[in-house]
Amino acid sequence: MRIGELIRRAGATFGAAPALVDDRQTMSFAAFDEATDRLGNALLASGFDPGDRVAVLLPNSVDSVVAYYGLVKAGLVRVPLNARETPTEHAHKLGDSQARGLIHGGETARSGGGPPGPPASKVERLIGPDELGALLRKGSPAPCRVGLPLDDPYRLAYSGGTTGKPKGVVLTTRTELAEVTNFLLDLLPDIGPGDVMLHAAPVTHGSGAFLLPHLVRGATNVIMPKFDAASFLETAQRWKATATFLVPTMIAMLLEEPNVASAGLAMRRLCYGGAPIAPTVLGRALDAFGPVLVQTYGQAEAPLCITLLRPDEHDRPGSAGRPYTLVEMDVVGDDGEPVPAGETGEVVTRGQHVMAGYWRNPEATAAAIRPDGWLRTGDMGRLDDDGFLYLVDRRNDMIISGGFNVYPREVEDTLKSHPAVIEAVAVGLPDEKWGERVAAAVMTRHPVEPVELEAFCAERMAGYKRPRRLEVWDDIPLSPVGKVLRRAARDRMLGKA
Ligand code: AMP
Repeated sequence: MRIGELIRRAGATFGAAPALVDDRQTMSFAAFDEATDRLGNALLASGFDPGDRVAVLLPNSVDSVVAYYGLVKAGLVRVPLNARETPTEHAHKLGDSQARGLIHGGETARSGGGPPGPPASKVERLIGPDELGALLRKGSPAPCRVGLPLDDPYRLAYSGGTTGKPKGVVLTTRTELAEVTNFLLDLLPDIGPGDVMLHAAPVTHGSGAFLLPHLVRGATNVIMPKFDAASFLETAQRWKATATFLVPTMIAMLLEEPNVASAGLAMRRLCYGGAPIAPTVLGRALDAFGPVLVQTYGQAEAPLCITLLRPDEHDRPGSAGRPYTLVEMDVVGDDGEPVPAGETGEVVTRGQHVMAGYWRNPEATAAAIRPDGWLRTGDMGRLDDDGFLYLVDRRNDMIISGGFNVYPREVEDTLKSHPAVIEAVAVGLPDEKWGERVAAAVMTRHPVEPVELEAFCAERMAGYKRPRRLEVWDDIPLSPVGKVLRRAARDRMLGKA
């Protein structure tokens, strides 16, 4: 089964029902099937060959979803770009993927010092809004079904790039189908016509994984241009949204809304993940939304589905849950062997959801995927006696201070448990005596003196974990998907940014 075929069948089965909605248009299942055929046919007729990479830089919208699946039907490999990234980041992804085309919305990328206009002078074909419209009009509506082999590249998802330059993660039709299967089996088992998925996070990233499971089941995807807490609540109410996906920072922002608890949402599954959630935020979210929270843990290399914490398992604070039904997961020591429950090691996973490898980077692929198929996630974690995973932190972010290991997440979670703190970031700075020392920055609801926070930490953390430098910032650097960027925070502290 190919993805294009799933869309064709949804078009035939759910016809005039609304498949995709944004603030400009509502598109039925049949119209979506036809638009993606037209675009796929037009792209192939205009000189693209199956297997070519085509980048997409469009705001969160119905058009962006049409572009994604038009490419899928034509066997073209999509390289999603996020409008909030800088031109330099776009240029890296375009160059590295050797994209032949770029479908863009005509707007400049977020100001990053780059020249105005699409950041892609070297790309052969730039397809702006007018040409996209023309392709959709003139493309043949005949079924466009290019049957690329299941293990050929289907999508290049660039890894978050929170450390080093983002690497192209090769996802195939097989990995995509695994994601749909895993979601329908475990995360959202009971979706059907009438259900509404609200996309407030970028569909270029995690939220995009929720499109297809809803499309194949005849549910509606409502797409917001971007997240903002007040419009999220308003849109969720208006559409009676039954599911959504938010990163923890967005949940924290929602909880700042005065009417959140009385919003009366129809949400059956409030999915969250993509970054650690602070226990205090999770506790408040459970109070506000009830037992509908479900956590998913994954990464670009194993998209979104390694473990999940189901709604009725939220009595285990700090846990990321147990593996999806069809997914293998373990925690191993430096020798690659599983460690006993309670001991910290690296999380590894194996299954159909794992990427094929890094794009044209066999060394990085060999370092990440063991010969027996297990993917090293780079995340440190431990299991409890019941097999629940507790993520500790990224392996590379660990701070070693005076020979002691400090995981920044623990410092951040402690800071976030202070009532005034909204967001926190902890990093290691070079230190002549201790090798590294812990430094942290926080964003607060109201002015707080750093000494007060220092005293708060002193009561709760061992000396070597306590931030030796603690600053209150107006903002904490976040990635386009709302993840705290420790590297940028560290650069800022070192005066590089
Ligand atoms: P990315 O590849 O940019 O999607 O980032 C994936 C990383 O985000 C993972 O390797 C984890 O470090 C982190 N992450 C994702 N989901 C969770 C979660 N549920 N809890 C804690 N960390 C998470």
